[in-house]
Amino acid sequence: MDRDDVPYLDATLPTATRVADLLGRMTLPEKVGQMMQLDSREDLDDHVLRKHVGSILHTSPERVLRAHDLTTQTRLKIPLLIAEDCIHGHSFHEGATIFPTQLGMAATWDPSLVEQVARVTAVEAAATGVHWTFSPVLCIARDLRWGRVDETFGEDPVLIGELAAAMVRGYQGDGLADPTAILATAKHFAGYSETQGGRDASEADLSRRKLRSWFLPPFERVAKEGCATFMLGYQTTDGVPITVNSWLLDEVLRGEWGYKGTLVTDWDNVGRMVWEQKLQPDHAHAAAAAVRAGNDMIMTTPQFFEGALQAVEDGLLDEKDLDQAVTRILTLKFDLGLFENPRRPDTERQRVIINHDDHAALNLQVARRSLVLLRNEGVLPLQKGRIAVVGPLADDAQTQLGDWAGSSGQADWLPDGQPRDMITTVLDGLRELSSQEVTYARGADILTLEPDPEGETFPDGQPRPHIVQPCPPDANLIAEAVAAAEAADYVVAVVGDRIELVGEGRSTATLDLIGGQIALLDALAETGKPLIVVLLASKPLVLPDSARNAAALLWVANPGMQGGRAIAELLHGLIEPSGRLPISFAAHAGQQPTYYNQIRGQHGSRYADLTQEPAFAFGEGLSYTTVEYGDLHVETAVLRPDETVQASITLTNTGTRPARETVQVYVSDAVTSVSWADKELKTFKQVDLGPGETTTVELELPVAACTIVDQHGCRVVEPGEFVLLVGPSSKDLRRAEFTVKPQF
Ligand code: BGC
Repeated sequence: MDRDDVPYLDATLPTATRVADLLGRMTLPEKVGQMMQLDSREDLDDHVLRKHVGSILHTSPERVLRAHDLTTQTRLKIPLLIAEDCIHGHSFHEGATIFPTQLGMAATWDPSLVEQVARVTAVEAAATGVHWTFSPVLCIARDLRWGRVDETFGEDPVLIGELAAAMVRGYQGDGLADPTAILATAKHFAGYSETQGGRDASEADLSRRKLRSWFLPPFERVAKEGCATFMLGYQTTDGVPITVNSWLLDEVLRGEWGYKGTLVTDWDNVGRMVWEQKLQPDHAHAAAAAVRAGNDMIMTTPQFFEGALQAVEDGLLDEKDLDQAVTRILTLKFDLGLFENPRRPDTERQRVIINHDDHAALNLQVARRSLVLLRNEGVLPLQKGRIAVVGPLADDAQTQLGDWAGSSGQADWLPDGQPRDMITTVLDGLRELSSQEVTYARGADILTLEPDPEGETFPDGQPRPHIVQPCPPDANLIAEAVAAAEAADYVVAVVGDRIELVGEGRSTATLDLIGGQIALLDALAETGKPLIVVLLASKPLVLPDSARNAAALLWVANPGMQGGRAIAELLHGLIEPSGRLPISFAAHAGQQPTYYNQIRGQHGSRYADLTQEPAFAFGEGLSYTTVEYGDLHVETAVLRPDETVQASITLTNTGTRPARETVQVYVSDAVTSVSWADKELKTFKQVDLGPGETTTVELELPVAACTIVDQHGCRVVEPGEFVLLVGPSSKDLRRAEFTVKPQF
C-alpha cells in the first residue's frame, strides 16, 4: 500500500479523518476482531490472522515480537494494542522493578511518590512493547476476607481517588504521544469489591445511592484526570452484570461525567453471561448485549468473534452498532502513534532502563514509606545484641513480591519468579545491615496444596485454584526457633500469608495466621525475649495475643524487591517509620466489615461477646517520636457553601527523632437528611518535623466537599452544623465546629 494514497496512513491528517477512512475500509469480521483482546499464550496466529484481534494481553517478550510480525501479514496492518497487568511495576518482565503492592503504596499516603512509581513502571513497560496497563485498582476494600484486598488502595474513597489519580498521571505521562506513556485503566468499575462474605466476584448488593456515596467518587476523580480506559468488573448489581448496566455506563459514566475514554470488559465477562451467570442463551445474544451496552474491547471471550457475526446475521445487531467501539479503539491507536511506530520492544533501551539504579532507589524509598509500625514498647530501634530471625517468611523472596508478580501464577514464562539476587528478604536485610550476630530458624511452615475435588478447571477452561491445607505446627521447627530465640537478645519473627491465600478466587474464610505460625509465635513469646513481629501480609490479618502484645509489631504488606532492606533499616533505626494504615485491621474475622466510615445508627456499638473496635484503625501508625496536636482553630466559624474552611493546628515533635506526620482531616455532618457516615476523610497533609520542632499547619477545606448523597442520589451540602476533625488517625482527632448557612 502506498502511504500517500491512503488517508489513514497519512500522519499529517487529523485522527478523526484517519479513523473514518480506516473504518470505511474494514469488513465486518475485521471490525468484530478489532473489538477483541485475546490471551497471547494461546494460538497467536489464529488470533491475529483469522480473528483480526485488536489487542493481546499476557505477552512474553518473544510473543510480542511474533504478534507484530503477524500483524504485518494482515490486510490493513492495523497495529495491535499490547496490554499487561503492570500493577505494581512491570512485574511479569524478568528483572523489572517490582514495587510494594498497591495496598503497601497506599500506606505511604503520598500521591507524588505513587505518581513516580507509575512513571517508572510506564518507562520500563513501554521499553518492552507494552502499551496498556490494567491499573490502578479503585475498588474499596471493605471485607478483608476478599482475596484482592492487596490490589486496592484500602478503604477510603478520598485516599483512593487521590492515589489513583496520581497513578494515572504517572502512567500516561505527558500524553499518549509520549513514547514512554502507557494507557491507564481504572478498574473494576464499579462495586466489584462489595462481595458477599468476601467471595470473589459474587453479586454486589449495592444501591445506586450507596454507589454514588462511596464507590463511584474515586472513579469520577480519575475520569476527570483523563484516565484513558475503564475496566468493567465481574459482578452483577441488582441483577445486572456491570458489562451491560446501562444506568452505570450510559447515564453516569458517559452521561453525567462525560467520559470519552475506552471501556474494556474484565476476563470473559461476555462469555460469563452465558456459562456462569446464565443471563444470555448463547454467545450471539451475549455479544449483542455487550455491544449495545457500549463496551469497546471484549477481553478474552474468543466466542465473541462468531457470536457477533451471528448476531449481525440474525438481526440482533447492525454492523453500524460496532462502529462506535471500533472508532474508539482506533482513535487510541492513532493517539499513541502506533501506525507510525508500533512501539516494538526495544532491547537496547531495556538494557539501559529496566531496573535502572534510579528505579531501584525509588523502589527502596517507597518500601521504606510503606512500612506501618503498629506497636512499639520501646524495643525499637534495636540496640546492640544478637538477633534471632525466625519465621517462614523471613527468607521467602517470591512471596515478598505479592500477587501479579513473577511466579504469582498469571505469567507462565516466569515459573521461578524474579531473579533471587534482585530481592532483599528480611533475613538478607538484617544480615547486611547488622553489626551484631544474626541467626535464622524457619520455625514453621504455612501450607500445602491439594487439587480441588471439583476438578482442575472451571467450565470455561480456566484453572481452578488449588485448595489450601494448613501445615500443622512442627515441634522440631519450633524447638529450633525457640533455641535461636533463647540464644539471642531479640527475636524478629516474620509471619503472614502466602500467594496461595491471595488473589482472584482465593478469598479466605478466616483472617488468621495459618499453619504453624500461631504456635510458633506463642512459643517465642514464652521465651520472654523481646519479640518483634514483622507481619508480611497481603492484607490485614487477625493476630493472636502473642503478636498483639509483642514488644513491637510492624505491618509491611508485600513490600517488593527492596522490602527486606527497608525493614532492616527501620528495625535498626536508620529510617523513621512513617506509614499509616489505609485500611483497618479487624480484631476478629466475625467483625467484618470494620471500615471506619460506617453509617450511623444501630442498637449499641458492640457484639455481646466482642467489641466492634478494630485492632488497629484506619490512619493509625507510629513514629519513633511523638507528635502532639494542639487545639484546632477554625478561622471563620460560619460559612456559605461556596466558601472554604480555613483552619490551623499546631504540632509539636515532643521526641528526639524526626517525624513525618500525616495530618488527617475529617468532617462530621451533625444532622443529615438521610443516614450517613459519622465522619469522612476529606483531605490530608504530610509535614516533616525535626526533634523538638513546633509548626503550625494551615488547612483548607472547601465547604463544597462537605457533602452527603441525599435520598434522590444527589450529592449536596446540607446547611447546618459540622465538626472539623483533625488528627493523626481516624480514632484520635481534635474538634472544631463550623456552621454552613444556606446560600441565599
Ligand atoms: C482481573 C483483572 C485483570 C485481568 C487481566 C482479570 O481476571 O480481574 O483485574 O486485569 O484479569 O489479567
